[in-house]
Amino acid sequence: MFTVNAYAATSATEPLTRTTIERRDVGPHDVLIEIKYAGICHSDIHHVRGDWGPVNYPVAPGHEIAGVVTQVGSEVAKHAVDDRVGVGCMVNSCRTCDSCRKGEEQYCLNGATLTYGSMDRDGAPTQGGYSTHIVVNEDFVVRIPDSVTLDKAAPLLCAGITTYSPLHRWGAGPNKKVAIVGLGGLGHMGVKFAHGMGAEVTVLSQSLKKMDDGLRLGADHYYATSDPATFDELAGNFDLIVNTVSAKLDVDAYLSLLAVGGTMVNVGAPAEPLSLNVFSLLARGRSYAGSSIGGIRETQEMLDFCGEHGIAAEIEVIPVAKTNEAYERVLSSDVRYRFVIDMATLA
Ligand code: NAP
Ligand code: ZN
Ligand code: ZN
Repeated sequence: MFTVNAYAATSATEPLTRTTIERRDVGPHDVLIEIKYAGICHSDIHHVRGDWGPVNYPVAPGHEIAGVVTQVGSEVAKHAVDDRVGVGCMVNSCRTCDSCRKGEEQYCLNGATLTYGSMDRDGAPTQGGYSTHIVVNEDFVVRIPDSVTLDKAAPLLCAGITTYSPLHRWGAGPNKKVAIVGLGGLGHMGVKFAHGMGAEVTVLSQSLKKMDDGLRLGADHYYATSDPATFDELAGNFDLIVNTVSAKLDVDAYLSLLAVGGTMVNVGAPAEPLSLNVFSLLARGRSYAGSSIGGIRETQEMLDFCGEHGIAAEIEVIPVAKTNEAYERVLSSDVRYRFVIDMATLA
């Protein structure tokens, strides 16, 4: 074991503070990564504030990790020292269940090991990317294309894959009308990917404040959901809606925007349950689905897609001391479009 600097939450209500955490020694199949940047995902905030259930404090969050390999175990074949790599929401899984065999480790039937807030295979709690170094099994480490800088790559490891995966699975592409609800960390990546895949993209945001950005990122249309006329004008319009909103919303109102046979996929994970009137689905054979991040193979595919299409996150790089302030700004939808912590400020 060795000790590294970290930034961690000690309770649901106290600000995150500097601390140290233990990392395991590099095993034969492990990679030691010097973390250069870590994105701030809204899930980090949900988790440390206990929105999703009991938390094992202290916890260093962070599952949008970009860095450089500084040591590899004796059996490691996939990565080498100096490689530019990323780690997302998972650091291991059972590898034997149906989901793992299909490359959908996020749906591991025995429970994937999450980057933080899980129990690791060795019985120690996992700790995330708000830290200077992490030791990860090579199979859960992905390559970052040379054309994407590490700071702009970090958010791809969660916000990127979480939007790429449902867009890909539900066929976003030419002649498809896709709406992205919420222009935050996930939403802005959703716009870039849906546009990159060739779909006609609409942003549904609470207001028109970020309209110029939305259109610049690749949206064809932009509407304010605070305006009831939006729901009349767009009724029955979309083949696919990806809902990235972190709070409760009127599901029926959004389902009414789907065409016959259309699908709304929820990736937003609010603390409160959402409800719907089933007639919103029955009337036009619509579907309401959910999606969680993406598997490791698909995460690599998404990163390669970013390299080929010149896609990366829009970020605001902050020193670690601004993390708590950034949390408040994310909570008030004041983020353009992902905060990324410069880990050199934690060294
Ligand atoms: P974020 O940056 O805060 O973006 C969420 C956006 O939702 C905001 O920018 C805002 O967009 C909109 N919004 C916020 N509060 C709202 C409200 N009360 N009513 C309507 N719209 C509201 O968060 P994020 O990091 O993108 O994460 C979004 C959600 O996805 C979180 O719940 C997170 O935990 C979840 N998530 C899920 C997965 C998964 O695997 N399924 C992975 C990562 C994150 P506008 O200002 O444009 O309205
Ligand atoms: Zn996340
Ligand atoms: Zn499994």
